Amino acid sequence: MDDCIFCKIVSRESSADIVYEDDDSIAFKDINEQAPIHILLIPKKHIRSVVEIEEEDLQLIGHLVSVANKIADQTGISEKGFRLVLNTGLESGQSVWHIHIHLLGGRKMAWPPG
Ligand code: 5GP
Ligand code: ZN
Repeated sequence: MDDCIFCKIVSRESSADIVYEDDDSIAFKDINEQAPIHILLIPKKHIRSVVEIEEEDLQLIGHLVSVANKIADQTGISEKGFRLVLNTGLESGQSVWHIHIHLLGGRKMAWPPG
């Protein structure tokens, strides 16, 4: 998708601090970190949000969760805990319309979220 910032990170038209990549997914540090570990995991395929996940994408979404799990392990936050966030739609605060999982960790978090 031409005007999508995350597609541009996938194609290297925009730079990012990439921490993981495979054929179907890429993970990079959030530009505006909200925790000591704040990584965004995205599929290379442009999917606008959770609402637009199709049957054929289910394996891909499962794969992203698995990658998040591996990165949490590698960054040493698995044991203490971490949070995966999928903001979906305007009221959630979704601001980039290419589906992404936030991996947040490295500090104690509050509940409920704001
Ligand atoms: P959302 O609000 O849609 O759930 O999350 C979008 C996230 O993308 C935000 O946390 C924001 O800081 C991050 N973000 C937006 N543009 C860029 C960018 O160009 N590079 C990186 N690394 N993160 C970005
Ligand atoms: Zn995109």
